[in-house]
Amino acid sequence: MVNKIIPIEGNSFKIDGGSMFGHVPKTLWSRWIEADGLNRVTVACRCLLAQDGDKNILIDAGTGTFLDPILKERYDVDEEHVLLTSLAQHNLKHEDIDIVILSHLHFDHCGGVLSSWSENKKLELLFPNAKFIVSKKQWQRATKPHALDHASFIPELHQLLEQSGRLILAEKPKTKELGENFYLHFSDGHTPGLISTEIATPEGPVIFISDLVPGADWVHLPVTTSFDRAPEQLVDEKAALLQHVVNNNIRLCYVHDNYTVFSYVTKDDEGRYDAEY
Ligand SMILES: [Zn+2]
Repeated sequence: MVNKIIPIEGNSFKIDGGSMFGHVPKTLWSRWIEADGLNRVTVACRCLLAQDGDKNILIDAGTGTFLDPILKERYDVDEEHVLLTSLAQHNLKHEDIDIVILSHLHFDHCGGVLSSWSENKKLELLFPNAKFIVSKKQWQRATKPHALDHASFIPELHQLLEQSGRLILAEKPKTKELGENFYLHFSDGHTPGLISTEIATPEGPVIFISDLVPGADWVHLPVTTSFDRAPEQLVDEKAALLQHVVNNNIRLCYVHDNYTVFSYVTKDDEGRYDAEY
């Protein structure tokens, strides 16, 4: 198993509350999270650092600061590169990271591997010593997006990843780079080839489940987001992975939950899943 796992915050952003909760009415979701005057809710962008032997493995990178000033304002993204600050709090620099697993290439999960936006300078890829793991299916989708989701991807990033020579396109649950302590679960309902990473830790297995279950409120099966390309498929995939989570007493680590970082999951007699705090 890995030595330890550490939650690492990246740049959060604000997004329309209705989009985040799919068809759940505001009368309900407004009890779970507070919206601002523009109906936006703040969404955490959490990453997870796993220290395995002498390797530092980072899962996801948050929104980062690559957005131009107009988009930064629209999404209310901080000027500070929060991921780099959070790593520094653990005496780490981006140069110290050996592997970055990107659960998918939506900008709020991978923008943090880029340098900050600057008027006169092109974006650069940070993490010069890291291999980047993306699923092959997600890579195919991101580089040839659908009109529905093309605004979620960062074409400049795809070029930089390709040019780096350090991009690994995963197709199987186990990879030789990650070794025995990591198992990649793939799903397609949120976006094709989303990776939920299961890690063997001293406190038992943990899954960084990413946007398959963005936070504890989404453990309830029918709660989806309007960013899911195939909500029914997502619900089926979520049910299958949650059954595995319950059977094996796995903790979930949530990417977008402002309040809950980890939780166990329970299933009651009616088949309803709940986060257990
Ligand atoms: Zn996403």
